[in-house]
Parts: sequence; C-alpha cells; structure tokens
Amino acid sequence: MGKLYVVSIGPGGLEYMTIKALDVIKKSDVIVGYTKYIELIGDLIKDKIVFSTGMHGEIERCKKALELSKDNTVSIISTGDAGIYGMAGLILELKKDEDVEIIPGVTASSSAASILGAPLMHDNCNISLSDLMTPYEIIKKRVEFAAKGDFVISLYNPRSKGRPNYLMECINIIKNYRKGDTPAAVVKNALRNEQKYKIFTLDTFDDFGVDMLSIVIIGNSLSFVKNGEFITPRGYNINRKG
Ligand code: SAH
Repeated sequence: MGKLYVVSIGPGGLEYMTIKALDVIKKSDVIVGYTKYIELIGDLIKDKIVFSTGMHGEIERCKKALELSKDNTVSIISTGDAGIYGMAGLILELKKDEDVEIIPGVTASSSAASILGAPLMHDNCNISLSDLMTPYEIIKKRVEFAAKGDFVISLYNPRSKGRPNYLMECINIIKNYRKGDTPAAVVKNALRNEQKYKIFTLDTFDDFGVDMLSIVIIGNSLSFVKNGEFITPRGYNINRKG
C-alpha cells in the first residue's frame, strides 16, 4: 500500500520548507510536479523517480500522482502552500480510495509580507487575477467587495501577457474606496535569488515589471510606511502610559 503526500515547498529556497516537507520528500520514491518547481528542489531528489509536466498539465499530473501512489510513496509538489491556488484541492476532488496527506507551507503573501514589513497584521484576503478558471467579472466583484470591506488585499497571479490591463483596472477599483496614499507594494520572486520589491502608494503605483512571479499587496485604510517598512497596525495603543 503506497501513499500520496501533497507537499508545500514554500516560496523557493529550501530553508523556507518545513521539516515535515523535507522529511516526506526524502522518504518518497517518486516525485511529481511542474518542471520549474522540480528544479527548485533539484538537489534533494537526485535519487528519485521524477514525473514532471509543463504549465497546464495539472489534471494529468494529479491523476498520475494518485495512480502511482497505489504502490509507491509519492510526493506531489506545490510551491508556497499546496492548499492556496495549489494542488491540494484537485487531488482531493480526483481521489478515490488512495491514502493522501497534505503538508502545509509558507504561502507567497506571507513570504512577501516578511520582506515588506508587516502588512498582513490585520484582516486580509487573497484574490487571484487569473481568469483561466474564474470569469473576470467575478474577479472584479471580489476586488470591489474586499476594498469595500477594508481588507488588506494580496493579489496573486497579478499580470500575464494575455491580460496586461487587469492589474491597473483592479487598482483603480480599489482606489474608489481607499485614499491615494495607501501603501501598495510589489514583491517579485520573494525569498528567491532574484528577489526584487518596491513599496508604492495607490496613486504612484506603476507596473514595476509585475508578472506571474510577482505578488501585489495593498494596505487597508490604516496601513502606513515607517522607515521603509509597510505596516498595518494591529490596534495596540502604544502611546498609552503605564
Ligand atoms: N501555492 C502558491 C500560489 C500559486 S499561484 C502559494 O501558496 O504561494 C502562483 C502565484 O503565486 C504567482 O503568480 C505569484 O503571484 C505568487 N507567487 C508564488 N511564489 C511567489 C514568490 N516567491 N514571490 C512572489 N510571488 C509568488
């Protein structure tokens, strides 16, 4: 009897993977994943059987992982957290009687937040701007309601060649509900070698080469920048005496 681990590998560098993730990868015979993510953990899996597929091969990849897990210990790899725009949901939707365990990890918004300061200190939400499986009308509605609700907003999949304008359109929706000096930051390749970031405001936001390796975080009505660090206050009264 085999087992399938759905393994979150964190943002990139191996040092941001959990000990549990490392442990299950080490004990797996077969590793399944998107070619680019397999490269991120290359050193760990030299002696394993590897099954990798390209960008849109998710269903094929999950079916293969489930099938192989009947007789082998298998890890299917997701970056960040497998339960956030990762492979965990699809695996559970396709699963019949296979033994599956999900290993959590550090998602892109947490990684980016640690670089920017502490922007996610209060209520926050993730919205993906990818319209491959969600109509753009619904995406815009969610952006609008998140802005109305004063959530800190992390935009995943913010910009691709096929939809160059969605990001600025969504920033403009948010501007209808937030002041122009609200911090809005881009982090590209968070906690990877090629990391780059910049903190703008909603008024000065420009695209900074935002792409599919980037995440955008927009503050709430109380967020501010101090000494170059993006902070959303939790609400402590730090001026109180005694
Ligand atoms: N499961 C992943 C998200 C996959 S969706 C997670 O939990 O992080 C892919 C999107 O995640 C990318 O388009 C980008 O917006 C974001 N992302 C993933 N890793 C990132 C990183 N290291 N730096 C910046 N953004 C990242």
